Amino acid sequence: MAARDLPGQYPQMDDALHLALRHQLEHRREVLGEALAKTQGTQLMQLLHEVDAALERLEGGSYGICERCHESVEDSRLLADPLVRFCLDHLGQKEQEALEKDLELAAQIQSRLLPARDFRCDGWQVAYYYKPLGVVSGDYCDLIIGPAQQLYFIVGDVSGKGIAGSMLMSNLSAIFRALIPLGLPLAELMYRANSIFTGSTLPTQFATLICGRAQAGGELELCSAGHVPALVVSEDSVRELESHGLPLGLFAEQRFTSSAFEMARGTSLVLFSDGISEAHAEDEDYGYDRLAEAVARCAGQVPAEVVANCVRDLESFLGGAPRFDDQTLMVVQRRS
Ligand SMILES: [Zn+2]
Repeated sequence: MAARDLPGQYPQMDDALHLALRHQLEHRREVLGEALAKTQGTQLMQLLHEVDAALERLEGGSYGICERCHESVEDSRLLADPLVRFCLDHLGQKEQEALEKDLELAAQIQSRLLPARDFRCDGWQVAYYYKPLGVVSGDYCDLIIGPAQQLYFIVGDVSGKGIAGSMLMSNLSAIFRALIPLGLPLAELMYRANSIFTGSTLPTQFATLICGRAQAGGELELCSAGHVPALVVSEDSVRELESHGLPLGLFAEQRFTSSAFEMARGTSLVLFSDGISEAHAEDEDYGYDRLAEAVARCAGQVPAEVVANCVRDLESFLGGAPRFDDQTLMVVQRRS
């Protein structure tokens, strides 16, 4: 008998969890028993065998212990599937493949939510860089043509990364894509988006975000919800646009204010997530100043070139140092 089969030497499972899992397993046993009474199938028999083995382990005290490292299997995973026998670090090949397939699918879904890479409309041209830390990103990046051919652009950053972050990102995408066609004033659009988002997130979740609207004549309006500043960069000047307003997802009744200004031809508005400005190498952040300098050096270039040059500058700053966050950079340029 392997050491792990001896009861009494494992971490004790919480009583409520133990009971919930027992209920789940017994319920499965019942359903499988009924199904087997109607039709004989080897797959059903195999499942029943696995359920019985799990119930036996639950009785013997070895349930919920990873069969590879003998540490506890994550509670949430047991509740999602009471038949799991390995911790996340030691998934069986089949489970690992299923998890990878899930992630791949999530990444495909997320990439379909992103706008066209090189975006042009009346008087404006936009390019962006979108790099998840893992397979999927918690950054939100969007370009939407609203009523009267106005261009809406959005860069946001949700709390958390990975799958949970990407779910919030897709929620934001649906909210803004549904609200923008209504042609609301920008501050009202943000108010409604925040109200819907707050109603559908956990209390610990929020998103910082900048939403802007550009018109063919060069007028530009911006509204920020606690996001890192935006930069207005021309050949000879850099202006930092500070954020006012709290992040989305905190208070349903929060109001927002927007600011409007005119963009001169050839000027670039630079939006980014803090994964860019706080990229870190040798005790130093990349920072706004470095980013602004990189953009200013690209005077006369189209947004796709500006973005590519900024990413090169960021990479040379990092010098191979690891990234710790999702990264998004967007350049909105008034065409000359
Ligand atoms: Zn393990």
